[in-house]
Amino acid sequence: MTKENHWKFCGLILVWATFTSCAPVQHDAEVIPYLNSFVQDAATHGREAEVKERLASVSVVLVDSFDTPDVIGRCSLSTLEDKVEFLRSHFKRQSHYRRMSLVYHELGHCVLGITEHTQGKLSIMNSPYIAGHLFVLFEQALLLELFRPE
Ligand SMILES: [Zn+2]
Repeated sequence: MTKENHWKFCGLILVWATFTSCAPVQHDAEVIPYLNSFVQDAATHGREAEVKERLASVSVVLVDSFDTPDVIGRCSLSTLEDKVEFLRSHFKRQSHYRRMSLVYHELGHCVLGITEHTQGKLSIMNSPYIAGHLFVLFEQALLLELFRPE
């Protein structure tokens, strides 16, 4: 389904008064500083408008549990709702830069549309997530690679 059709579909759903689907996107307060810095970093790399537009249709929230064990963050794309979720108990314990590595990785999937995980080099799109101290040490190179993948 295209994005345009998605919104038409959502419009139909709303007409039929189903308010559980196609709810407006929401961003939890804890993640907003990281979303703002993601948009700023996108702007530095010439991708602000595109990222802002896309982020406006992706919910980014903290959840108390996942249906799969050992998951701490996830990007889910569907015709009804695109969302990034982080495990609340884990997220709250992480350092500032580790949170950035978590949020930027999942936004890399959900907002930048990167589907693959990077292998063999330091990258925000590696799985597992990179450590916070590596993020801060190599921040400029990591951001360049994320926003301008080859
Ligand atoms: Zn991933």
